[in-house]
Amino acid sequence: MLNSFLLLAEAALYFGAMTTLFRFRHRIGLGVFVCALGVMHFLETYLASVFYVALPFGMVSPGSAVLFSGKLVMLLLLYIKEDAATVRQPIYGLLLGNALMIGLVLILRMHAISPLPSGKLPDVGFIDQMGWLMVWGTTLLFVDAILIILLYEKLGRYLRKALFTRILVSVACVLTFDQAGFFTALHFVTGAPVAVFFGGWFAKMAAALAYATMLVAYLRWFEARQIPAPRGLSDIFDTLTYRERYEALVQHVGRDGLTGLLHRGRFDSDGEAAVAASLRTAKPLSLLIIDVDHFKSINDRFGHAEGDKVLKSIAALLGGIASPEDQVFRIGGEEFAILCSRPHPLARLLGESIRHAVKASAGASRFDITVSAGISTVSETTRCLADLFALADQRLYKAKSTGRDRTIGEPGGHEADSLKAWTRSGRGAGA
Ligand code: GH3
Ligand code: MG
Ligand code: MG
Repeated sequence: MLNSFLLLAEAALYFGAMTTLFRFRHRIGLGVFVCALGVMHFLETYLASVFYVALPFGMVSPGSAVLFSGKLVMLLLLYIKEDAATVRQPIYGLLLGNALMIGLVLILRMHAISPLPSGKLPDVGFIDQMGWLMVWGTTLLFVDAILIILLYEKLGRYLRKALFTRILVSVACVLTFDQAGFFTALHFVTGAPVAVFFGGWFAKMAAALAYATMLVAYLRWFEARQIPAPRGLSDIFDTLTYRERYEALVQHVGRDGLTGLLHRGRFDSDGEAAVAASLRTAKPLSLLIIDVDHFKSINDRFGHAEGDKVLKSIAALLGGIASPEDQVFRIGGEEFAILCSRPHPLARLLGESIRHAVKASAGASRFDITVSAGISTVSETTRCLADLFALADQRLYKAKSTGRDRTIGEPGGHEADSLKAWTRSGRGAGA
């Protein structure tokens, strides 16, 4: 009982301290976290080779159950919050650092060693034993770290909303694989009994559960929050990383200054890519072009500044109605475009909801604002952005010429079915 409690306390201390270093990475640098991870690696291997405690279900080493499992979870955290290029650094660092240590030990062994005054000599046999476990442990860790990332990515397809299950399954599977591999080595090097395998496995599963819970709590409650800007002396650490600057830049590039929507250049590049993806995967793609009716008269009556406000509010309204997967662009002065993965009838519904929402919001203000929209969907006759755009534009023109305040899509229903028919014929797949 005491042993279980102590193991849990060790895991909580390890997780708390490591995530604190990670949390402040933007201020103190990620190197602090990675170095601490590396230092723990030494203690972990030492404990795993000699330090075992008895639990009801077998023998457990804090080296494996707390430190090794924890390290894997830390690598996963690093991957989730940063990226593959970053997590690769400690993975390779640990592997190469261990190789260096083994190289040094091989030379150190050649010394004629003088005993200390107390007569004490280094335990070379123990260093050897630990060395082999370290080689094997590090090789396994290398495979484990790659496996956990691949597994986490794969599971994302089925468990995107269930973060806890996704993390728990990834960690538990990889720790099971690791326990089998590590025990095999331990058995041959130290003659560890089978009780160590099961004890270690149970302990690792308990660790997976504890760490997955802590990780989800950390991601939900701590990572989601902004750290307040530092003041005073600590400012010297507040250098934005290139990554942050790059991300901030990317946020601005391709965005329209007034509305914050994606701009015309992005429409051309993203639109072409979206049409190509739609043809390749046979997923529907629709384009809505939305133009504000008689916008010039708003400028003329209330001034350009008021006109700008109206454009901003329409942009906000479009962003609110469109779903996160849809892309909303400002393609001209008072012209907007939405690219959405919806079949034609649903794209028309979206157009209608936008039209109603603009009207409703206009009713609440002193302006009388309406919009017209033309809608087209990728089909056999529209296989590039230019064709898709021309068709939507033609329908927008029709909406304008037939009285404005309306959305016009395909009259017959051919576009709605064409993608299905076209997919069935197998031509969509190779396009
Ligand atoms: P309709 O589309 O219904 O035919 O009439 P309209 O008055 O909206 O048509 P038109 O395309 O001729 O006018 C668009 C106006 O939008 C012209 C221009 O003064 C105004 N405009 C373009 N960009 C901006 C902008 O960034 N801010 C403001 N305030 N006005 C803009
Ligand atoms: Mg216009
Ligand atoms: Mg207009």
